[in-house]
Amino acid sequence: MIQSSIQKRSTMSLTAPCRALFKLLNHGVVALDKSLQARNAAVAVLGQSFARSYYETGTPRFSRPGGAAHVRLVDLRSDTVTKPGPAMRQAMSEAEVGDDVMGEDPTINDLQKIAADMFGMEAALFVPSGTMSNLIAVMAHCRERGDEMIVGDLCHIHIYEQGSSAHLAGVHSTTVTTLPDGTFDLKQLESKIRHDFPDAHYPRSRLICVENTHNIKGGRVLPLTFLQEVRALADKHGLAVHMDGARVMNAAVALGVPPSTILQHAHTASVCLSKGLGAPVGSILAGPKEFISQAVRCRKALGGGMRQAGILAAAGQLSLLNMVKRLEEDHHNAKTFAQALLECKPNLFSVEMAAVETNILRFSLRDPSLNPSEFCARMGQVCEGEEAALGQGIQVLMCSYFGNSIRAVWHLGISAEDTQLAIEKMKFVASQYLKEKHRPQ
Ligand SMILES: *Cc1c(COP(=O)(O)O)cnc(C)c1O
Repeated sequence: MIQSSIQKRSTMSLTAPCRALFKLLNHGVVALDKSLQARNAAVAVLGQSFARSYYETGTPRFSRPGGAAHVRLVDLRSDTVTKPGPAMRQAMSEAEVGDDVMGEDPTINDLQKIAADMFGMEAALFVPSGTMSNLIAVMAHCRERGDEMIVGDLCHIHIYEQGSSAHLAGVHSTTVTTLPDGTFDLKQLESKIRHDFPDAHYPRSRLICVENTHNIKGGRVLPLTFLQEVRALADKHGLAVHMDGARVMNAAVALGVPPSTILQHAHTASVCLSKGLGAPVGSILAGPKEFISQAVRCRKALGGGMRQAGILAAAGQLSLLNMVKRLEEDHHNAKTFAQALLECKPNLFSVEMAAVETNILRFSLRDPSLNPSEFCARMGQVCEGEEAALGQGIQVLMCSYFGNSIRAVWHLGISAEDTQLAIEKMKFVASQYLKEKHRPQ
């Protein structure tokens, strides 16, 4: 369903390379059959086979200092490390641009229209980053200093955005406990809503923020029923719901629903184009028209009014039109690696398979004598004897994380083959560690 609406759109507002493709299709160069159905089918096929060309797929090879042998790199630190490939760069170089602060950049205007339609929102705004997008949302929802929002204690807005809602927007936060699946207890949530305004002792509750997928909890997909219940509670008390949907497209793909099915439960949403969707820069903030008009003002105040940024929006269009379906590959590869951790002999790892729902994997080590940073360091360097054992050096980058865990993130730079390399390396590190541990001192 996502695909079919994407295809419908893509025949209407096209970036230059798509236009060139359609020209070829029309002239029968790519597909001889001119019926619309055949064209759409061809686009679907080409769209997918070219998806990888949006990214530089060649796995980087590094020479070891002083060594001739090559080393394979598998970078699982974050899905923000993707780089635009030739097709995306070409679309960027050919983008029509204008002054977006005057609303005159056609490529940005198209992107905003595509995003609003896809998300089932009235309007959308292209913004420089997910962090700015969330801050703008907070400012546009909580318009008086001392307004309050309710956030999960482990959400990105609360942990990783420098407390900007307080120090820049003048908004107070109260937190609810984040449960392992990224949700909250609804009773606790309700208990945090203030009812005493305008009593001068209290702030005024304005906003509830949810995060989908949940980053710190390992890419968890919020259940639709939870979102529905949060929305019902918000409506009952006259609050707004903002979804930090940096990875909401991963959630949509995991649930097999269009993003609008998820976002119908939020008044507004922020979606990153620069994570798994592969754009170099940018996020979309979407919501009602009046909210977006206010968001335009806030964006300008924060210095986020860009000018000929259609160059960036062209990449964002390809992200939304062509890169969504392939997120499945990332989810699949993350599960494959998680399964390999579970099956590894010696059994060093603990993973909850049911929690591996999207492209983020969190796991921990069962042996307290091996800590996460040491494990990550071993994965990230070419160890002694590795080239002899594996036929090549393999560097796998991942990060030690919250709660003594390790985090690895899949993205369009990581193929099934790269995932197998990471598995080989993980097994090698585990067996080496055990050998050392049991070697008589
Ligand atoms: C990455 C991320 C953001 C911020 O996006 P930036 O573009 O890096 O500023 C916000 N929320 C969540 C959940 C994220 O993962």
